[in-house]
Amino acid sequence: MSGKLIVGNWKMNGSLAANQDLVRAVMAGLSDKSCKVAVCAPAVYLPQLQQLAAGSHLLWGAQDVSAHEQGAYTGELSATMLREFGVRYAIVGHSERRQYHGETDAVVATKAQRALAAGITPIVCVGETLAEREAGHTEEVVKRQLAAVIHTNGHCISEIVVAYEPVWAIGTGKTASPEQAQQVHALLRAQLKAATAHPERIALLYGGSMNTANAASLLSQNDIDGGLIGGASLKSADFLSIVAAASH
Ligand code: PEP
Repeated sequence: MSGKLIVGNWKMNGSLAANQDLVRAVMAGLSDKSCKVAVCAPAVYLPQLQQLAAGSHLLWGAQDVSAHEQGAYTGELSATMLREFGVRYAIVGHSERRQYHGETDAVVATKAQRALAAGITPIVCVGETLAEREAGHTEEVVKRQLAAVIHTNGHCISEIVVAYEPVWAIGTGKTASPEQAQQVHALLRAQLKAATAHPERIALLYGGSMNTANAASLLSQNDIDGGLIGGASLKSADFLSIVAAASH
């Protein structure tokens, strides 16, 4: 893929006032030379993002999407609804949703399908827990998670973004070393190459305590096309410094 992609995941943080300051500061720091940049906000703030960022260099996304198209699913938000608010990306299968909301590989795959059908790019998260890594199961776990999405989405697979997020590195301050991350990215890339004629379209992001200090070395790896950034996306200076590291 050409150019890197940096995506902020605000998780359940923010307020109307704080978002306004953050978004304005981020937009002010972006230039034509910046790589592709997006923030995934809590859904209630998507209209605010649309209002603040429409026409700017900053794109926005959701942190989840329903696996259902419409109907009696209280509390759910469909991909079509999200699209009405200019949403370009939807994170699916974040480890916090797999862990706290029981999302299975099959549900994640269907969510990706719903997003694609509405013209939203799903950012499909895969990653192993510490126990799985220590047991030597990293490869098996991430391949299984990605295989479910490939299986359900067939020829549309070249339209997704994949984020490798080792669960043990999320919000913990522990980062995968550039070599550890590259190793997993290379095998995900190989899996995608076998699944589509256009693997070059798919951005492979790393996520897990990426910050101003480690971004450049992670982003310089051959198969790391960008980052999914949690904590550091809540501070404009940190987020912009990661964007700068991805922009040359
Ligand atoms: C995330 O939640 O996707 C993430 C990578 O979080 P953090 O950067 O805080 O580890």
